[in-house]
Amino acid sequence: MTNNPLLELDGLPRFSAIRAEQVEPALDQMLAQNRAALARLFANNTLYTWDGIVQPIEEMSERLNRLWSPVSHLNAVMNNEALRAAYNRCLPKLSAYSTELAQDERIYRAYKTVAASAEFAGLTQAQKKIIENGLRDFRLAGAELNDADKQRFKAIQQELSTLTNQFEENVLDATHAWELIVSDEQDLAGLPESARALAKQAAAGKAGWKFTLDAPSYVPFMTYADNRALRRGMYTAYVTRASDQGPHAGRWDNSAILLLILKLRQESARLLGFANYAQRSLATKMATSEKQVMHFLRDLAGRSRPMAEKEMTELKEFARGRFDIGKLEAWDVAYYSEKLRQQRYAFSEEDLRPYLSERQVIQGMFEVVNRLYGLRIQELSGIDTWHPDVRFFEIRDSTNELRGQFYMDLFARAHKRGGAWMDECIVRKRTQIGVQAPVAYLTCNFSAPVGDKPALFTHDEVTTLFHEFGHGLHHMLTKVDYPGVAGINGVAWDAVELPSQFMENWCWERKALDLIARHYETKASLPQDLYDKMIAAKNFQSGMQMVRQLEFALFDMRLHGEFDPEGDKSVQQLLDEVRREVAVVMWPAFNRFQHSFTHIFAGGYAAGYYSYKWAEVLSADAFSKFEENGVFDRKTGMEFLHTILEQGGTREPMELFVSFRGRVPVIDALLRHSGLTA
Ligand code: ZN
Repeated sequence: MTNNPLLELDGLPRFSAIRAEQVEPALDQMLAQNRAALARLFANNTLYTWDGIVQPIEEMSERLNRLWSPVSHLNAVMNNEALRAAYNRCLPKLSAYSTELAQDERIYRAYKTVAASAEFAGLTQAQKKIIENGLRDFRLAGAELNDADKQRFKAIQQELSTLTNQFEENVLDATHAWELIVSDEQDLAGLPESARALAKQAAAGKAGWKFTLDAPSYVPFMTYADNRALRRGMYTAYVTRASDQGPHAGRWDNSAILLLILKLRQESARLLGFANYAQRSLATKMATSEKQVMHFLRDLAGRSRPMAEKEMTELKEFARGRFDIGKLEAWDVAYYSEKLRQQRYAFSEEDLRPYLSERQVIQGMFEVVNRLYGLRIQELSGIDTWHPDVRFFEIRDSTNELRGQFYMDLFARAHKRGGAWMDECIVRKRTQIGVQAPVAYLTCNFSAPVGDKPALFTHDEVTTLFHEFGHGLHHMLTKVDYPGVAGINGVAWDAVELPSQFMENWCWERKALDLIARHYETKASLPQDLYDKMIAAKNFQSGMQMVRQLEFALFDMRLHGEFDPEGDKSVQQLLDEVRREVAVVMWPAFNRFQHSFTHIFAGGYAAGYYSYKWAEVLSADAFSKFEENGVFDRKTGMEFLHTILEQGGTREPMELFVSFRGRVPVIDALLRHSGLTA
């Protein structure tokens, strides 16, 4: 067991030394160590205190997270067969261990004893919250169940862990199995140079241009390609991934898996005494009831649907009048929307690209947080990473204290999971020799540099980067010394998007864009007329975008609430019902969106997709304080830093919000920012 880099837990992971065959032995050893330590902890101990019980258990869980973080990260960004197999063999073990811990009555009793002891009142807020969350999670993990139910509950958790991972793998495989090779240059008509160059590069020396279902390839194709039949083909492949429909019908089919996931979630929720899984999900969230969430979503739908319908009618008329399109199909929407937008605003996303080079954007983003919070960010070289594209930075505050470090892995490539996300590598904690600074992974899938040009981003990609960086700041700027509630830990799902969506606001501010945007050749700042057009175009079809998100959120909530997996109504019927209620874009019968809805079937958003909109209300309202005081007002920035970013999960999100804003959140700022106010 010597020389296993996964078991070296001081300092940064040595990524280049990690091998797939080391994963399982490292995990086995760590789990055995933790189990033995736990046994020792209870062997001669009847005096339960923070230091005697809670702290050692917190440390075990931190060590395990620390070991597993680079493994799960590599599995996502450098996927290969051996690693995937090792990862999959470990999942049931991890799940079994966490369920075991979560159902350990000795720990439950010990925590209860600490909570009821005289010591409790003298603990810090963070310590108290860790114990309270622990007790809540014990109940949610079945600690109060009888033995037979406990066994069943445990079996369900293991099965769910395997099923959700399988769901995601099916989506990944189906996404990568399909490609469109264009050999006739005429079929590229309409596509901007950047998309052609990317497709040429993807063809890897072979004749023609290769398009795939990864976002940097798929999105421009659907937005710009004149060839309607090819768009239809691309759309069909995309919306039928991992389903019973489309070019790979029946292969990687998630039909049975998603139904089984729903069934098992419902069963586990009922074992715990909830009426359904939605209620179980809300037990740990800022929102308090299914009814409150449904009311929130339908309120937003009511306010935005008329606008969405108006926008859709305009689009249909435009496509009919200008291009003689009798029936606007789902694969036409992005394409004619872009045409309409260009006509109306004489502006294309592509016009912005030359101003948004990797270098300028990153430098500008760092300058923004310097002005807001007095932070200085520097790149470090010579750090061991998993790919040559990866960069590494450190954050210091105005007192030169090291606050955090992060890896930045920006570009799409083969064997890397799509999308963008922030994840924890190391969490802040206080040790005997000082503070262990937090470390984050920032992962995106942007268009890679082509030829000698630097990477030039779309504005949307820049917004995504700011979003993930917002999560990263939440993780890295925490002042909480206990990992259990430091950074994003212990923060309710529906509040965790506040710092990320909050950061996006600066991507639209002239003063911030002066820092972020500069022409990569001429060094000119963003021309005012281009900025004006960008702002005018910002809320283009915002009603349609809003109802699309509400469609996903309502579908998710009803699926985990009222839906009966064994009833007569199918998942498809429920989705169609939701679409009839809120959607304005007509969907073809073969659309199987739900089969690749990884957020709710493989991520943590089950009965929680509403969180995006919920947190948008919070973030828009928080930003409106900066609109009132100035977007770079340092005082307001420091208030946000101290009341929200540094606090982690030590207090209820509503309490933190009120301490920053001076009142409870209101919906007005979001509607105003989205142009949905009458
Ligand atoms: Zn996010």
